Amino acid sequence: MSTDSLYQEVILDHFRNPRCKGCLENAHAAAALYNPLCGDQIDLSINVRAGVITEIGFAGHGCSISQASASMMSELLKGKTVDESRRLSDLFRSMMRGERGGEELPDLGDAVALEGVRKFSARVKCAMLAWEAVERCIAESLKKRSTLRVIEE
Ligand code: ZN
Repeated sequence: MSTDSLYQEVILDHFRNPRCKGCLENAHAAAALYNPLCGDQIDLSINVRAGVITEIGFAGHGCSISQASASMMSELLKGKTVDESRRLSDLFRSMMRGERGGEELPDLGDAVALEGVRKFSARVKCAMLAWEAVERCIAESLKKRSTLRVIEE
């Protein structure tokens, strides 16, 4: 099997059997993003405890790339620290821009299968949507944490 068709299989598997599907109740942070170019919707929610993403869930609809990317991202970041999640999100963005490759990419887990999408510039936004959503969620949860700290002080 070629790498391309293997990657296709991974993408279809996440699309058909999404991991972490479903919004969290009482989520610590949430973001809803829409990609008008393709009609993709991602509603993402996370819970953060002691700097770790303890729970992550998404709902949405749209093309296979957008939904598979959300599933891959959720599976990868669940249980990771916020700092590590930001690093992985930066790495994914760099991969989609073709700026970074090679030895760091296996850190992205199944999301590496989306690398080929960057050849189709109209679809990059589809792949990025869930990652932009998690960046917003992380930013929101960090803001809440600093607000809490001010209150506590
Ligand atoms: Zn799409």
